[in-house]
Amino acid sequence: MDVLNLIGGRWIEGEGEDFASANPAWPAEVVARGRFVSGREVERAVAAAREAAPGWAATPHHARAAVLVAAADLVDRDAEEWGAELAREEGKTLPEAIAEVRGAARILRYYAGEADRESGEIYASPRPGENVLVVRKPVGVVGLITPFNFPIVIPAWKIGPALSYGNTVVWKPSSLVPLLAYRLAQALTAAGLPDGVLNLVYGEADAGTAIVGHPGVHAISFTGSTAVGRAVIARCGELGKPVQTEMGGKNAAIVLADADLDHAAEQVCLGAFRSTGQKCTATSRLIVASQVADELLERVAARAARLVVGDPLQDGVEMGPLVSAAARDRVSAGVVRAVEEGAKPLAGGGRDDREGWFAPPTVLDLPGTGVDFWHTELFGPVVGAVRAEGTEEALALANLSDHGLSAAIFTRDLGVALNAVERLEVGVLHINSESAGTFPYVPFGGAKQSGFGPKEQGRAAREFFTQTVTVYLGAPA
Ligand code: NAD
Repeated sequence: MDVLNLIGGRWIEGEGEDFASANPAWPAEVVARGRFVSGREVERAVAAAREAAPGWAATPHHARAAVLVAAADLVDRDAEEWGAELAREEGKTLPEAIAEVRGAARILRYYAGEADRESGEIYASPRPGENVLVVRKPVGVVGLITPFNFPIVIPAWKIGPALSYGNTVVWKPSSLVPLLAYRLAQALTAAGLPDGVLNLVYGEADAGTAIVGHPGVHAISFTGSTAVGRAVIARCGELGKPVQTEMGGKNAAIVLADADLDHAAEQVCLGAFRSTGQKCTATSRLIVASQVADELLERVAARAARLVVGDPLQDGVEMGPLVSAAARDRVSAGVVRAVEEGAKPLAGGGRDDREGWFAPPTVLDLPGTGVDFWHTELFGPVVGAVRAEGTEEALALANLSDHGLSAAIFTRDLGVALNAVERLEVGVLHINSESAGTFPYVPFGGAKQSGFGPKEQGRAAREFFTQTVTVYLGAPA
């Protein structure tokens, strides 16, 4: 399948290098191919977004919303087919991939609904006859940079609010998953999005830095690794440009002694191994109350060992491959290092030498928190466990990380759960469910080094994608 860049309403090949995405289960199979944009074409994309900005901002919110609803219908219509493409390109299982595509449609509809919600505030004034209005306006041209691991839902949760609130967009997806980016852009253009409102450019770091540094791009929303996110924050800081970054995680699941252990073990495995552990909110650290540690770890390890790993398009497969050879090698090196540092594999631990970029679901019994594994995001199907003496120590261990995206805690004690809400340094907390998962209508984003700037999703997205004007509305004399 050939994919094209979209600039100013025209689908173009691109003047840069050729690229192709591969099926991570069968790496010899090319899924999509295309050409990156040149620097000149990034310029053109920004110029097109700038030109389209006044018209789109002036379009009534309900008309903008109608485009999002029409696009959502197209995404839903093709969810099964695009889900299969997503599974072939990224490696998550077919049911997860179809659910992701449907999730993108749901997000577009949610942001279409913003047209019907309140969009400003009115305050009283101490001056007779005056009111103070706070109105919201689009930011202008926004640059969106997205990662590989949710090829359609993360773009949708940036593009949806960007367009709904009247911004125009220059979007650079991950070049590992170009096909789903193409599909989403196709749906939005077929739904009637005017030329230049959404510009899709394929490229690598150089295209990303060009968008971030371009004076014609007014704000940047980035999701990806912490290292790249920090560089984006630094550059935007230099330029005085509003920026929102969602970055890496090292998410903990805490299982306390009073938890339902069967349920906790199942949820820990879902958190650690669904999407092959390639979720920013995946569970990678497990903190277990020492009284139940052996029992819980035995169940987690047994479940991990039973997981059916294989081609994500096949029925019954529970975990697919990692996205690339580099990802597989990074995960495998991380496990080797953990074992050298004293970790004991309770499940997995070795390499999976099949043709595709597979890694075995791995459960490590860690010698403590001094190991590199505790602090470094591997972004693969590996969870490392330590034991805690009591709730206080468990909470402290969970906070022993520079990251603060998501956490899970399993307990039947409401007081303990509420204490965890106060104490855990995270942006998302799951009580008695896995650390991964998010609904589109509530804020999403990380604490500490996992997130910077306003949160995403729900009404929170409005903070980033609009700017307020405070209007002192006096009565005419
Ligand atoms: P990545 O940082 O390698 O790439 C993300 C995007 O940034 C890609 O489009 C990439 O081409 C682009 N990019 C690379 N260098 C750049 C630069 N110098 N300037 C501008 N853009 C540049 O991340 P990835 O491997 O695609 O995704 C996995 C990472 O994303 C993990 O760390 C994961 O935790 C994180 N993630 C976070 C969230 C969240 O919401 N917190 C969600 C999903 C993924």
